[in-house]
Amino acid sequence: MSDGFMKSADVFSDVSEFILSYLSGMSSAEKYSMLIIISAAVLFIILERLFPYNKGQEVLREGFFDDLALYTIAQSYILSIIIFGYIINFIDSTTGISRLKLFADIPIWIQLVIFTITHDIYIYWMHRWQHSNKWLWRIHEAHHSPKKVDWLSGSRSHALEILINQTVEFAPIILLGSPPEVIAYKGVISAIWGMYIHSNIDVRTGWLQKIINGPEMHRWHHSTGKGRNRNFATKLAIWDWIWGTAFLPQNKPDEYGLKTYFPEHYFSQTFFAFRSFKKKKSSELVND
Ligand SMILES: [Zn+2]
Ligand SMILES: [Zn+2]
Repeated sequence: MSDGFMKSADVFSDVSEFILSYLSGMSSAEKYSMLIIISAAVLFIILERLFPYNKGQEVLREGFFDDLALYTIAQSYILSIIIFGYIINFIDSTTGISRLKLFADIPIWIQLVIFTITHDIYIYWMHRWQHSNKWLWRIHEAHHSPKKVDWLSGSRSHALEILINQTVEFAPIILLGSPPEVIAYKGVISAIWGMYIHSNIDVRTGWLQKIINGPEMHRWHHSTGKGRNRNFATKLAIWDWIWGTAFLPQNKPDEYGLKTYFPEHYFSQTFFAFRSFKKKKSSELVND
């Protein structure tokens, strides 16, 4: 057997050992959550084939590998250790606030409703701010870079953006002493809703689009033209209708992505956020 084959066999057994030990360390709520998320992803891929919003968009599009292996799996894994193991753990160990267990007796589904709505209001304003502040745009432009928008493309978010938004998402859950299931199920809600709003599915929800956000409005947010500085909502479209940023014309966007240069792969995309402001004109923030 060649050296190359032996090495790749070693890597394969190391990776499968890591995955097995990772799975055995998960609670049953976490295992169910992962199963639900993977099943939803398969369902979205099938629905995108059956009812495409933009016809002819392939599954294995440009950037597919980076979005799946590096953003969705590797980056999420590393960031979850930093967010939960270090940042939130530090806040909790210095304040001791989770010991008060303020939310422990509230039914799980009510907690999920409360955390989903409150975080969604936060993310609406944070997202809107990211489109008007040149520093915050730097950690958001990666999310706007895919030229093909689909169930997976929404996972492309800069590590710092995820670090901030997921700390804000999960710190209250832990600090208020919610049971661990709330973290797992909140993760499922965010993952599935995120896949849904980006999915290349020709959804027509009618009046429901005024409440529940979906691809009809969020795909416009990823367009290169008018619309990209509208539709800031993530889960509930209601915020865009209330605060005057809704955009829902009858036609479909011509193209998606950035009008400015953006690197092709994960590591260069991550470092690109830290480039100098001097070299480029300040017109990087694309306004209508
Ligand atoms: Zn945006
Ligand atoms: Zn998006």
